[in-house]
Amino acid sequence: MKPSTERNTRDETVWSTAGPPIDATPGEPVICPDMSTLPFARIDKKWQAYWEKNKTFRVQEDPDVPPEKRVYVLDMFPYPSSAGLHVGHPEGYTATDIYCRFLRMNGYHVLHPMGFDSFGLPAENYAIKHGIHPKISTDENIEHFRTQIKALGFSYDWDREISTHEPEYYKWTQWIFLKIWEKGLAYEAQIPINWCTSCMTGLANEEVKNGRCERCGSQVERRDLRQWLLKITAYAERLLSDLDKLEWSESLKLMQRNWIGKSVGANVHFPLIDGEGTIEVFTTRPDTLFGATYMVLAPEHPLVDTLTTQGHKRAVDEYINQARLKSDLERTDLAKEKTGVFTGGYAINPVNKEKIPVWISDYILISYGTGAIMAVPAHDQRDFEFAKKFDLSIVQVVSRDGTEYKLDVADVEDGIAVNSGQFNGLSTSEFKERIVQWLEERGIGSKAINYKLRDWVFSRQRYWGEPIPLLHCEKCGIVPVPYEELPLRLPEVERYTPTGTGESPLVAIEDWVNTECPRCGAQAKRETNTMPQWAGSCWYYIRYLDPHNDTVFAAKDKLEYWMPVDLYVGGAEHAVLHLLYARFWHKVLYDIGVVNTDEPFMRLVNQGMILGEGGVKMSKSLGNVINPDDVVCGYGADAMRMYEMFMGPLKVSKPWSTKGIAGIKRFLDRIWRFSEREISDDEPPQKLLKVLHQTIRKVSTDTETLQFNTAIAQMMIFVSEVGKQSKLYRSVWRSFVLMLAPYAPHLAEELWEKLGGKPSVAYGEYPAWDEDLAKEEMVTVVFQINGKIRGREELSVGMSSTELEQKALDHPRIKEMLAGLTPDKVIVVADKLVNLVVKSV
Ligand SMILES: [Zn+2]
Ligand SMILES: [Zn+2]
Repeated sequence: MKPSTERNTRDETVWSTAGPPIDATPGEPVICPDMSTLPFARIDKKWQAYWEKNKTFRVQEDPDVPPEKRVYVLDMFPYPSSAGLHVGHPEGYTATDIYCRFLRMNGYHVLHPMGFDSFGLPAENYAIKHGIHPKISTDENIEHFRTQIKALGFSYDWDREISTHEPEYYKWTQWIFLKIWEKGLAYEAQIPINWCTSCMTGLANEEVKNGRCERCGSQVERRDLRQWLLKITAYAERLLSDLDKLEWSESLKLMQRNWIGKSVGANVHFPLIDGEGTIEVFTTRPDTLFGATYMVLAPEHPLVDTLTTQGHKRAVDEYINQARLKSDLERTDLAKEKTGVFTGGYAINPVNKEKIPVWISDYILISYGTGAIMAVPAHDQRDFEFAKKFDLSIVQVVSRDGTEYKLDVADVEDGIAVNSGQFNGLSTSEFKERIVQWLEERGIGSKAINYKLRDWVFSRQRYWGEPIPLLHCEKCGIVPVPYEELPLRLPEVERYTPTGTGESPLVAIEDWVNTECPRCGAQAKRETNTMPQWAGSCWYYIRYLDPHNDTVFAAKDKLEYWMPVDLYVGGAEHAVLHLLYARFWHKVLYDIGVVNTDEPFMRLVNQGMILGEGGVKMSKSLGNVINPDDVVCGYGADAMRMYEMFMGPLKVSKPWSTKGIAGIKRFLDRIWRFSEREISDDEPPQKLLKVLHQTIRKVSTDTETLQFNTAIAQMMIFVSEVGKQSKLYRSVWRSFVLMLAPYAPHLAEELWEKLGGKPSVAYGEYPAWDEDLAKEEMVTVVFQINGKIRGREELSVGMSSTELEQKALDHPRIKEMLAGLTPDKVIVVADKLVNLVVKSV
């Protein structure tokens, strides 16, 4: 996936914020010769080489594994930018990696792949600047990313790696496009689209944020361009209703729901007064029809010409010209002064036969609904302001109490109908039902559903993307490139610079553009627009299933073996881009019978952002960017992994802390030193066994539910208990090494080997806990105020003084009696009593 802005993590000042490697930090305790530290550099390399050589994490479709034991865990694949990995990438990757390793040790068959989303603008911009072919720079970046990712010890099946810019991959992206085209879901149109003057390309609506280009932040213009669009609107209802099946966060589902923007209402026909045609409007409030006192059309509405009378023509033309210069955002800004002009024409309100004036105004968009509205100023604030400004009549038709009264602002609430003929007295909801029926009976309207979702502007006027596999033949019109000719490869160009004319640099390569029609043999021209950056990521999770298949995009048995994706982890910034587009493609593929599920991603988790120290966003200008390479180099891969998981819950944003990572490194060093003790086969003490079984219970349940930070905290409790022992007990240590393995796999492999285990620990059997052994021993602790017993509580044996004091302070009766006072002195007798001494009580 592409980050919305490029983040440069190659920052020379990085150590000024992250600090030098721990062993050289001034002020750290002097490291005694016998206080050895984890030799992570050696261990990391050793085990990474072992996994690579033995293909430890390769997975095949073993038919003996029952379906409920097959799991597909997916990371949002990265865009291989020249900046390399940033610390946000390993966060999600570590989370899924721990989860996958945990599942494997619990007997699951796990598909966990990685690849690269490698078409996109930065490589092309780099080519423009330096004249280096995007393929060369992209391949270099991928190489760098792969090395960085491997240095963190993730358990990917690298045999399944894919890159979306490889012809072997985009052959199938083009194949899917042709399927979509055959289904009538891709069409060409000359429409006004969002144009980024800086990127010199058209953009999809989803790529425009607050009127600016999602990628570069430039103000977006409107431009009339020939485009390829995908009919995502045909899937609006299913994209909406199928959200209910998914285990995604409510906030993310809501973002998709709002983007799809379904509203239920009625289409109503208003005949023009001279009888030539009707204006169709969509309204969610057909119960306010009697209050429609005027109409407003978008300046681009096709009836504007017909309606405009001679006397109003000049003003109307002038207004249309001005509107053309404004963006949709400017036009629909609620705060702006309402503008508009009267066309001189009239329509008839079909419910009361009133003659009502027709205006034009730029706050009506031709792309939304029908491009025309009935204005009900009494019950819509924008219409109210417009009517006040232009002195148009305002008729109340909804009332709180069934009587008419003066309105100072529009009343948008439901109520009781007034001034509505035979419908007077009806409640809003009842009225809505009755009026739709009434309109339908008379053939002047019908129930209707409207969506905010627009068709997906799918073509880009740039070089570094998948060529759209279509031809324009003089005789046959649009002709698809025959399937057997795919992939239609990107040709070499001399110059990558976008033409800015709305055509891609491919236009200049005449011997590529000019070709023969495969149908009739006549002169034909290739489509020169390329696909948007989102195309390749719409289906990559399918290609992982069968990445080297040359005859189908993925074999049916492999699809059936693994799909759908059980867990998908990535950033929330793709809510209405990648996640909506991929669902759309998947549904089309489902409809043509080439995939076996109607949704691709059953469960989705968005990781929180990793902020700079101090809680601000990492940025080059603030000098607070942490480079993962430096962290791995200074602290080791395991410390990096564990630290990112220990920072806080996966889903929340959290600031980086140099102290924090040093602390994790010390924790790993401590584990390493314990492992150097002589191992004992004696029976471990009860107390240690109890902590062990509590740790297995907590780490198992927390890992399963992706609560990695609390699992690590429990491992720390365990390790400190080990520190209290004079011996290292084999059975206890062995269980701990297994629990540690998903989190710190390099260290765990090494410790496993030291214990005489056969590699790889990645397939060791996860330890089980004994509920009896894990059970806390309970004791009654009494709480006193000034020596008098005021409460008691059953608590687990061995709580610390601070914990006991807190329990006493939290006790409801004690709380009440203290009435907010702080005790002057607290006496704690372990496992027995807490006495709070308060002078003033
Ligand atoms: Zn841009
Ligand atoms: Zn032809």
